[in-house]
Amino acid sequence: MNHPRLEPSGAAAANMHDPRLASPEPTLLLVDVLDTAHYSWNPAALPYLLVAAGILATTLFVWHRDPDTRVSRLHAGFSLMFVLWALGRGLLRLADDPTVVVMLARMFYVLVSLAIPLLFSFSCVLTRNETRRAHLIRFNWCAGVILAFLSITTPWLIASWQEMPWGMEPWHGILGMPYLIWIGLLLALVLFDIGRALRDAPAHSSERSRLRWYGVAVGILGLAGSDLLLASGIPVLPIAALPVLAFSIITAWIHHRYGLVEVTTKLAADKMAALIQHALVIMDAEATVQVVNQRTARLVGLPVDQIVGRPAHESFGDAFLPDNIERLAQDDHADVEKEFILRPRDGSAARDLSASFVSIRDGRQRVVAFLSLVRDVTAERKRQQARLAEGLRDNLTQLPNRSMFLGLLDAAVKQARGSQDHGFATCLIGLDRLRVINEDLGYAAGDQVISATADRLRRVLSASDTVARVGGDEFALLMTLDADPKQLDRQLEVITDTLRRPLKLDDHEVFPSASIGVASSALNFNSGSDALRSASIAMFKVKESGGGDIRWISADDMGGQRTRLEAELRRAIDERQFEVHYQPVVSFKAGDVVGFEALVRWRHPEKGLLGPVEFIEYAEQSGLIAAIDRQVLEQACIDLVGFRRHAGFERLSVSVNMAEEELRPEDFAQRVSALVAENGLPNQAVRLELLERVALTGQVRKTLAQLQRAGIDVCIDDFGTGFSSLSRLHELPISVLKIDRSFVKAMALGEGGEKIISSILALADNLELAVVAEGAGTEREARQLHDLGCDVIQGFYFARPMPADRVHAMLREPAAIRQRMAVIADPAS
Ligand code: C2E
Ligand code: MG
Ligand code: MG
Repeated sequence: MNHPRLEPSGAAAANMHDPRLASPEPTLLLVDVLDTAHYSWNPAALPYLLVAAGILATTLFVWHRDPDTRVSRLHAGFSLMFVLWALGRGLLRLADDPTVVVMLARMFYVLVSLAIPLLFSFSCVLTRNETRRAHLIRFNWCAGVILAFLSITTPWLIASWQEMPWGMEPWHGILGMPYLIWIGLLLALVLFDIGRALRDAPAHSSERSRLRWYGVAVGILGLAGSDLLLASGIPVLPIAALPVLAFSIITAWIHHRYGLVEVTTKLAADKMAALIQHALVIMDAEATVQVVNQRTARLVGLPVDQIVGRPAHESFGDAFLPDNIERLAQDDHADVEKEFILRPRDGSAARDLSASFVSIRDGRQRVVAFLSLVRDVTAERKRQQARLAEGLRDNLTQLPNRSMFLGLLDAAVKQARGSQDHGFATCLIGLDRLRVINEDLGYAAGDQVISATADRLRRVLSASDTVARVGGDEFALLMTLDADPKQLDRQLEVITDTLRRPLKLDDHEVFPSASIGVASSALNFNSGSDALRSASIAMFKVKESGGGDIRWISADDMGGQRTRLEAELRRAIDERQFEVHYQPVVSFKAGDVVGFEALVRWRHPEKGLLGPVEFIEYAEQSGLIAAIDRQVLEQACIDLVGFRRHAGFERLSVSVNMAEEELRPEDFAQRVSALVAENGLPNQAVRLELLERVALTGQVRKTLAQLQRAGIDVCIDDFGTGFSSLSRLHELPISVLKIDRSFVKAMALGEGGEKIISSILALADNLELAVVAEGAGTEREARQLHDLGCDVIQGFYFARPMPADRVHAMLREPAAIRQRMAVIADPAS
């Protein structure tokens, strides 16, 4: 205490004249500060030292629990500043030289100046205001560093000292007041942010409790401002250390009780992006890639930095063109998926991908970004195709089944038509007495015979021939037919001989035999089923005469078969054995069923209900189709009148298929108008469907023009399968295109049907034609059609064709079909 003291003063200006304080020599002063001679024990220092220890303890507590998060680093940062500050304050009490007091004060103002921006950043993280306050955070850092520098190098912040009852206290210079205002404003801002965050925080959440407690802590910390007031000459007690300690304890407690930061999706975003099983692509509004995860890089075969910052379509192909993304993200339905093929840049195999898109909007609903999740569906598609192929094979023999065989046969029929070089024979092989083997030795034995027969056939046939299992005990062959049929005869004899060889089953020996019916393509079949049916007529003739033989079908045989069917058809027309079933057609714009397609069925007295494929062809060939179509049209008009009586369905329409035959008479349009009028229906209620090739024939075109004038819509059925002469399409008096279901299937299988459908839609749009898509068999197909912009759809997904009484039931309770539409139009429902 024997050091000379500067004149104690309440007036800073007086002390500014002291030469030692006005231009301090830092090195000299640092030596002064470190010199223990300048200190002597003063019990008033004890509380500060205890507070320093307390803050240190809470800091270590938080650090220990949560060592390496940004928020705990910020917490540790300002807490350590506070510890050093409290230590400095303690030393100040011990110092007995005013020079040391001033120097110590300048040193701990460095700490306070740096603690403030740390604390502010911490508060912004806690109140989730980091982005909003980003500029202010930076400004505070600059201000803090500058003030720290000025406080140690100039007397502007701490100019001098003053004598208080408890010892010497520092005295502010010209920066004192701005410093006070800076800190005061920041505290007020933090409290304001806490208030706002509290307003947005969900009730009873831990977020709310955390904010509330943090508000209390900041309020208490405000009391530490007493130190600044003291240095500005306002006589308050030097209690600043206590609020700082209280603040530290409360924040440590908040951390212990609630964690320092709420766990949110925002917080977890990075980890989510890394963990997510799909490729993640975030693009700006121009579809330039901004964020991707590692999976994306692997999928595309490019490093992340070559994907980011570039237009998305460069990495993903046309599916990611801005227009496409915008369209697909329009409804923000993440389950609307777009399938596309990607050829990775690293040269690995092409992959089937499926992407969903959502748009991200700002507060003013402007799209600012797009997010896409991309799934690799290669394996899934492969499995589907395998399943599809499986569906075309017979389980027992692994041979092609009936539908696959008919497909192949159809192709062969088309190829053979009008060509001498592509002759073929269809053979139907029926195993004789398989029923007896099944009954006597059991079905397992029967299966063994079938498998063995398949093996034997495979062995004797050449690679260019096709063998299939087309029925329980029937195999079919598609064989090339040279100019000399005898060649084939010899081959068939080898086959019958082979099949006739005894077969050893487990304990028995069986002696199989086979009857073979053969139909040559020279008979000019219309279709594969026609050819197979003819072969079967021949085969049954062999069976009738004892079996085990070969017979070629003759034109006579076929004539007989045709005459029988024709006679049956005539009787069916006379006895009105035809029934009309109706398949609903829905429109998304209307949000309901808007009409039906009338589809004929034959209630055959012996064979039961037959579908059109079984008789339409014959009816056309025999010229009986016109009579059938007329009956169907009449019935459809009568039924439609009933359907339209249901409330809300007064505008239903019906589509009726028309064969060329029926359309040819000159008075056709007149007759249809009369029939429609007779039933009290408007002409718009009836629509006629015909195939493209029919519409193009001369007389029919005249009829179509008459129909159009009468206001009866004409629809091109199975559009796209006829390789239409598009140039002539616009000349045709038609108003609707019906997209064939083969395109819908191709679309669902990712085989490019989508492109065709889009083109048809665009074409229809240009020619101002309406479009109906048929054959939406599954939800997926219906959704894909809807997403491509098809409004009017027909398909098994919505409803199968049904008799009139079921239509009435459906119209009484349309909830089920509307629900199916809602699923497509609004997947969220
Ligand atoms: P179409 O005019 O193209 O009729 C649509 C056919 O597709 C109907 O078969 C219908 O049951 C079927 N279909 C509808 N949705 C789906 C689906 O989601 N999946 C699948 N797999 N099929 C679906 P249907 O009743 O067997 O008729 C077959 C064809 O017979 C018709 O094809 C039409 O060309 C002809 N036809 C039917 N009724 C008549 C008629 O009264 N007169 C004439 N001339 N032809 C008719
Ligand atoms: Mg049709
Ligand atoms: Mg069709």
